[in-house]
Amino acid sequence: MCGIIGLVGRRGYHINQLLYDGLTVLQHRGQDAAGIMTEYEGKYHLRKSNGLVKDVFYKRHMQNLVGSIGIGHVRYPTAGSSSAAEAQPFYVNYPFGISLAHNGNLTNADEIKLLLTSEHRRHVNTTSDSELLLNLLAMELHTRTHNLNIDGELHVDVNTIFSAVSALHKQITGGYACVSLISGYGILAFRDPNGIRPLIYGSREIEGETEWIIASESVAIHALGFEVVRDVEPGEAIFITSSGQIFSQQCAEEINHSPCIFEHVYLSRPDSIIDGISVYQARLNQGQRLAERIREEFPEHDIDAVIPVPDSGRYAALQMANALNVEYREGFVKNRYIGRTFIMGGQAIRKKSVRRKLNAIPHEFAGKNVLLVDDSIVRGNTSAQIVEMAREVGAKKVYFASAAPPVRYPNVYGIDMPAVSEFIANGRTIKEIGKEIGADKIFYQTLEDLVEVTSINGEQSWDTSCFSGEYVTGDVTSEYLEKLELARNDSAKSNGSVNEGMIGLHNDE
Ligand code: AMP
Repeated sequence: MCGIIGLVGRRGYHINQLLYDGLTVLQHRGQDAAGIMTEYEGKYHLRKSNGLVKDVFYKRHMQNLVGSIGIGHVRYPTAGSSSAAEAQPFYVNYPFGISLAHNGNLTNADEIKLLLTSEHRRHVNTTSDSELLLNLLAMELHTRTHNLNIDGELHVDVNTIFSAVSALHKQITGGYACVSLISGYGILAFRDPNGIRPLIYGSREIEGETEWIIASESVAIHALGFEVVRDVEPGEAIFITSSGQIFSQQCAEEINHSPCIFEHVYLSRPDSIIDGISVYQARLNQGQRLAERIREEFPEHDIDAVIPVPDSGRYAALQMANALNVEYREGFVKNRYIGRTFIMGGQAIRKKSVRRKLNAIPHEFAGKNVLLVDDSIVRGNTSAQIVEMAREVGAKKVYFASAAPPVRYPNVYGIDMPAVSEFIANGRTIKEIGKEIGADKIFYQTLEDLVEVTSINGEQSWDTSCFSGEYVTGDVTSEYLEKLELARNDSAKSNGSVNEGMIGLHNDE
């Protein structure tokens, strides 16, 4: 999971601050690396590095990021791609100069890599599928434009650009929402035919001129003072010229809108609206339905207080407390200033970090039966430690509720999840999971309920793969999943490549 943003401002005004602010609003989508690429008078300006947005961009970097057009990216760590060289946006100089930022994951990256390197003799410098995507786009644009005489005039019409995106859709599979800056032309944005990852755009008028924004989530559009126009449709491409003209076209032959349901469980900010669905409302609905199920299953319940696991468990917990007619209490305080854990990954570090992050308020637990609520349980580290902490401060009984069903399958569309063997639900029944985390009872949302209550706008199809093992792109084989399992386990992650010496586009240090 990553966050992307693209901006076309008024000519003569720099949009570096807007891009920076937008990335901070999207920071929850990725804290591992950040980058901004702008264009000014035909030259690209890039700053990207590992770290939070606030730590990557200093004043001197911002001063270099000049121009009224640009794109940005925040990256989530995934196996094999946490070096600074793999921070985005990526860049190729041919044709035109194209840079790209991508949220998602391609499921046929190996095939595309072979095509690019053996057949088209393109050089791929990283292990990132986003670099492959960029090279493929560049290749498709080159094929369509190499006979054109480029002399600074707009020779490439939008249909050529859209036709390159159509060709891309035919070759790649997986989840991808992208923004791409084409030097001298404008910003191209496109979304995969399943619309797995979100992408939305907006605009604002200033002194009779229109400025445009494209972002992963609507919250970035609002926070920057723009109005949402609409979501980018699955398979659709949007092109905004450097002078602010906008074009759009459906570029996929077949679309099957199946957005990732995990965006509504955990990934997105609750103040975002994705494909017309309020993330906040979806989370309240999830809490409501789970509470109704608890009432059915446990009619004589003895719960004294509903306590959320902050922050992501709060929305479901609030509604559960209302629906169960039980007090909602805050029992854990989150340390907002927690520093980085410098040695990434590994179970031991992860275990320690829960206690560094959360602390219990004893009075809220002493002598009470509490229902702890989280949005989801993945490895079970958080839940196990939270249950233990609740008992340490005197809770009588500790129940645990997960607003999402058990996570049992890998995500192949861009969410960083551990290896299947590391999921607490792997090979365990719900009862056994409860026992493993030390809870007196455990309650999970069913997948049917999750789908029903999240489909606020009426029946719709979802990517529910991490709960169901069904992959909407239809191309995910057991061999692919086996490879992923090897790449994602803790030992693979702790051996993760660090390619600090790689040569990339000059970084505006
Ligand atoms: P754990 O069960 O200890 O792995 O942690 C579960 C918690 O991590 C849940 O409270 C979620 O809020 C959060 N979470 C869920 N999915 C992810 C993810 N892909 N990356 C990071 N945190 C996640």
